[in-house]
Amino acid sequence: MTDRYASFVQSAAGRALVKRLGLPDPPRLRRHQPGDPLLPGPALLGAAAGGRLAEPVAKLLTAAGVELADPAATPAAGDTPQRYGALLFDATGITDSTGLRQLYDFFHPQARAVLPSGRVIVLGTPPRECPTPREATAQRALEGLVRSIGKEFGRGVTAQLVHVTRDGNAPGTLTSLESTLRFLLSGRSAYVSGQVVRVGTGDASAPDDWDRPLDGQVVLVTGAARGIGAALARVLARDGARVVALDIPAAGDALAAVANDIGGTAVQLDLTAPDAPTRLAEHLASRHGRVDVVVHNAGITRDKTLGRMDADRWDQVIDVNLSSQERINDVLLERELIPAGGRIVAVSSIAGIAGNRGQTNYATSKAGVIGLVDSLAPALHDRRISVNAVAPGFIETRLTARIPLVVREAGRRMNSLAQGGLPVDVAETIGWLAWPASGAVSGNVVRVCGQSLLGA
Ligand code: NAD
Repeated sequence: MTDRYASFVQSAAGRALVKRLGLPDPPRLRRHQPGDPLLPGPALLGAAAGGRLAEPVAKLLTAAGVELADPAATPAAGDTPQRYGALLFDATGITDSTGLRQLYDFFHPQARAVLPSGRVIVLGTPPRECPTPREATAQRALEGLVRSIGKEFGRGVTAQLVHVTRDGNAPGTLTSLESTLRFLLSGRSAYVSGQVVRVGTGDASAPDDWDRPLDGQVVLVTGAARGIGAALARVLARDGARVVALDIPAAGDALAAVANDIGGTAVQLDLTAPDAPTRLAEHLASRHGRVDVVVHNAGITRDKTLGRMDADRWDQVIDVNLSSQERINDVLLERELIPAGGRIVAVSSIAGIAGNRGQTNYATSKAGVIGLVDSLAPALHDRRISVNAVAPGFIETRLTARIPLVVREAGRRMNSLAQGGLPVDVAETIGWLAWPASGAVSGNVVRVCGQSLLGA
């Protein structure tokens, strides 16, 4: 599906009209291509006094090929001002609200210096790990800054807060901080903005090649015949995974086309069939002996306002979008087919966060997916299996193409990037959560919504 308005504003006539009438101005977003540098320009890294992360972050950025600008360098008169691919600030040293001034001092002079599709990243401590109420208060305050920058900077610039556990020497934390920064700085995170991501503890191993971060991993993708699932299968295979693509028998041809395209295997199965979990488990056991990553992507909508909704619509949506995920998790975990280092990633929706008229069934199921992450992530921590979800906003697919034009336009524009996301944006985000390097990222729900106003 194409966003004709977004293409039009890139033309000369479109630019003139946007300027004159003050219309929404969706920028062309930087998206990842293998081999791309992480950033379109150098990064400026600052730190509050006493910050614990600036040093390791400087090291890992340099190792990742990012050029670090010298914060002390003052341009000579007449020089073109320095522009940055990213501004990063280690705010872990802020222990009191008066220390927040250091954020202003760092960001204010650089507010116009970020390149299009550049990145702003603030590093903080999870407030609940702070030893004093004052420190927890100051750390919580960081969210307001980051979310406002996401709305203010424009031109495809995104802003995120990364909470890093104080237990910074715990195994995996630094590797997952690296995987998270590599994701957030790169074009992989084009449509992710205004998010708070937590990096905790857990097993994480860096890949030999960061362009193939899923090398050799066996990954199950449900609902892989089209839309987000098909994009997912392609992105995960590009990143080195052996993909098992699953969809209903009626979508068999499209599913086979996706699987053939990426050298994966196809499984035709209705997830709601009573024997689906055992059949799937048997397939995975006999073909691969394990499944490293399970992506619960299959989902349906059966919209009606609650008073007009028949029980079938309710039941089908809850069953496909939520209960089938639980049944499959149970069997795969019981049979120990998801090994230590495994990943479960589920697809929620901003409807599950904000609610939506006509979608009581869908929003219930998608809020339930968030509950599944909240409850299963701590329960599986000791088995070293991470559990996360993504919550897409308006993504350009057949599902959203069916929305009436006016509502569709509103959905597309009511976010900081003034456009809908692409299936590949959701796929890249799921990919990062699935990487072996991201094991210390668990219990997160990451919105892929261009910082939508809904549920904000
Ligand atoms: P889609 O309808 O294009 O694809 C969903 C796929 O799931 C289809 O191929 C379908 O055949 C498969 N599926 C449905 N029921 C199944 C079953 N019982 N067993 C096996 N496979 C089944 O939808 P999409 O837009 O690609 O959405 C993918 C996921 O993203 C869904 O969970 C959806 O709720 C979620 N999501 C989408 C958007 C969006 O804007 N498109 C926004 C938020 C969340």
